[in-house]
Amino acid sequence: ATREDGTPQRPSFDDEFAELRAEMVRDQIEDRGVSDETVLEVMYRVPRHRFAPMVSAERAYQDSPQPIGHGQTISQPYVVAYMTERLELEADDRVLEVGTGSGYQAAILAEIVDEVVTIEIIRDLAESAAERLGRMGYRNITVLHGDGYYGHEARAPFDAIVVTAAASHTPPPLVAQLRPHGYMVIPVGRSGWIQNLLLVEKNADGEVSSRNLTSVRFVPLTGGH
Ligand code: SAM
Repeated sequence: ATREDGTPQRPSFDDEFAELRAEMVRDQIEDRGVSDETVLEVMYRVPRHRFAPMVSAERAYQDSPQPIGHGQTISQPYVVAYMTERLELEADDRVLEVGTGSGYQAAILAEIVDEVVTIEIIRDLAESAAERLGRMGYRNITVLHGDGYYGHEARAPFDAIVVTAAASHTPPPLVAQLRPHGYMVIPVGRSGWIQNLLLVEKNADGEVSSRNLTSVRFVPLTGGH
């Protein structure tokens, strides 16, 4: 896709770690059942190591979360791929992410959809993610500093919402900002414990249902709510 001025909306990458990414996609993601070709392709394309500057590139491609500072993490590759697949994204979607962290999940989303809004509560992380994504060439991601519990009313409704921190309950403002036929994926449960990864669906009449997909372990959703 290109913007009106002819510059590409998304960057292209060429780096020495493509082989590590191919292994990551095959062994950690495809072998565990993620089958959406678009999701597999973008997980192969996006240079994850650039979002995890505190660890070596080799470690960035391992089957686990990695530290990004401020006690926060970039999520495990499989979890990013799995959550992305469950959103059933379309190319013209607008997606909200709560918990920008490194910006990696936002980049994965931005490779698939038109527009991504992502909110991060730790100012330093919001600023460094915005700077990193800008430097890498992403033009369709807006990084906001704030409490994502309240979503972002100004750009609502969203076709899909992904929350990458564990909440004690599904935030009503996020449900309100989800478009009919939209999916939200959110870990819900006690922080410091295993949480349920919920798939929340809003039907055409605005009725909301949710079901448990699997167990996950995320850092807590903080904030004043
Ligand atoms: N998606 C991130 C990535 O790709 O690197 C990983 C997210 S990390 C597991 C969770 C993030 O959620 C942390 O950066 C944390 O500061 C942020 N967070 C926690 N509570 C939040 C809130 N209420 N609003 C926005 N961000 C929040």
